[in-house]
Amino acid sequence: MKGLAGKVAIVTGGGSGLGREDCIELAREGCTIVAVDRDKMGAAATARQVSDNGGTALAIKADVSDATSVQAMVKQVLAVHPRIDILVNNAGVVGEMKRVHEVSEAAWDEVMNVDLKGTFLCSKYVLPTMLNQGRGVIINIASVSGFLASNAAVAYTAAKHGVVGLTKQLAYDYGHDGIRAVGIAPGVIETPLTKDWTCAGGPFHQLTMEAPAGRYGRPIDVARLVCFLASDEADFMQGHTFPIDGGSIIR
Ligand code: NAP
Repeated sequence: MKGLAGKVAIVTGGGSGLGREDCIELAREGCTIVAVDRDKMGAAATARQVSDNGGTALAIKADVSDATSVQAMVKQVLAVHPRIDILVNNAGVVGEMKRVHEVSEAAWDEVMNVDLKGTFLCSKYVLPTMLNQGRGVIINIASVSGFLASNAAVAYTAAKHGVVGLTKQLAYDYGHDGIRAVGIAPGVIETPLTKDWTCAGGPFHQLTMEAPAGRYGRPIDVARLVCFLASDEADFMQGHTFPIDGGSIIR
């Protein structure tokens, strides 16, 4: 896709599921990859997969919910690469699938810290580099839970609504500096995160099967959208979060 060759792309949560596939597809489009994950082995396995396919990738262990860790990660990237063109804020956890009066404060905090604060922190510490360049793209992986209430955890729904709002604000604040911010809202995609859901009787099975696509999503479905949104072909797309859900939330 136009404008991806030679770009440096950081993908958080790059050691598993959607993040891994994003790394592989962005590399296929010519990007140099930085796979960031708190699971070092996972990030290293992604980097290996990228280089086995002929691409270039660096694996970095970092916790997106920890400012010191995020700052150290950005420093490590800049020590190797002169620029950061694309940031995919993908790391996320779901937490306890409970209602407000049942969920523990610790579980609430964990989801907020990873899903929402992690997106804030990675953006915060990558943005100075993008501002210096006068160019950059931030892609935030929200969820259809960023648009509606469901069986998903209350903290997850709240955090992902926050990610949708943060994406708008990033676009509003940095669009005139040459930086684009967009979001993606996947429906249920088959990854390690959803391995207990994607079966008959799973919490979203009926919703998924009754939707127009009638199937669960695959990581490649999301990764191709990531590539498009990161490319120059999406130059007029700003601030919105785009569902990719087989049509599950159209009614
Ligand atoms: P996944 O397979 O569990 O991968 C997420 C990766 O992020 C894991 O390697 C995880 O490490 C890592 N991670 C978690 N917390 C982190 C932290 N604090 N710092 C750094 N890395 C961290 O999940 P996925 O299905 O690919 O989901 C990726 C993103 O898509 C998430 O934001 C999720 O909310 C969103 N999403 C997924 C679906 C879906 O159906 N799969 C639908 C909508 C939205 P650990 O294994 O150590 O936790």
